[in-house]
Amino acid sequence: MVIDGHCHAGQGDILTAPWNTDAPLRAYLRRARAAGIDRTVVFPAFHSDYAIANDALARIVERDPGRLIGFAFVHCKRDAGRIDEMIDRAVRQHGFRGVKVHGSDGMPTRELCEAVRRFRIPLLVDVVGRAYVVDMLAGAYPDVDFIVPHLGSFADDWRTQQAVVDQLVRHPRVYSDTSGVRRFDYLIEVVRRAGAHKLIFGSDGPWLHPGVELHKIRLLGMMPSDEAKVLGGNMMRLLRSRRLPQTRSVSLPAPRSPAGSPLRRSPVPLLSGHAP
Ligand SMILES: [Zn+2]
Repeated sequence: MVIDGHCHAGQGDILTAPWNTDAPLRAYLRRARAAGIDRTVVFPAFHSDYAIANDALARIVERDPGRLIGFAFVHCKRDAGRIDEMIDRAVRQHGFRGVKVHGSDGMPTRELCEAVRRFRIPLLVDVVGRAYVVDMLAGAYPDVDFIVPHLGSFADDWRTQQAVVDQLVRHPRVYSDTSGVRRFDYLIEVVRRAGAHKLIFGSDGPWLHPGVELHKIRLLGMMPSDEAKVLGGNMMRLLRSRRLPQTRSVSLPAPRSPAGSPLRRSPVPLLSGHAP
């Protein structure tokens, strides 16, 4: 089972760069199938309102539930005060399995960390080169699974990537994904020093080619058991830890969703049976 742990889907509304304009999946899905990728974690493109973007993503995931696994996107400043509500809706109604935040929007706050902890879902946080934030997050929330994409820097900041390798060694529940990482030897260093259980394959599709990113992992030359962890086993383990608490946290407002709307579990059949 090969899982691409990092892909974007749906339209953005900001229109100043590819990542906030459109993340079309047609070519991605064809390329991923040809490469042997079975499942793909998707989150929205950058958007001015992630509540809208998450709902749009849910419709995309519904069309291909056998392949797509949704993660919600939140903006910790703009969405402050409604983050728990957004995640509750994403998990219960849309069957989403994790959350993505981007440091250029805002770093994770306690409000967000408490919400992902409540559902035991992973938080994928792009720290945009600010590796020191990982120490704050992992120190304050040692029981939350944090995935740091791109080894901390999509922009190839090797200082950040070196620091994140050390953090993967030190923090048991901090992981990194491989998407867009060009400095190949840092990935080998992660496997050697932190262990293959700390690395998650991701492509950053549809903007990067999933076949190229997957081939990069094959070239690491890992033992088959380690490669299986990186290519899907690790992400599967994190996705399975989700739980659905009976009640919402008392300090937050009632959900905006219509009363009596059915709560659906994840549309991903292989995963749904394992969630408590
Ligand atoms: Zn990305």
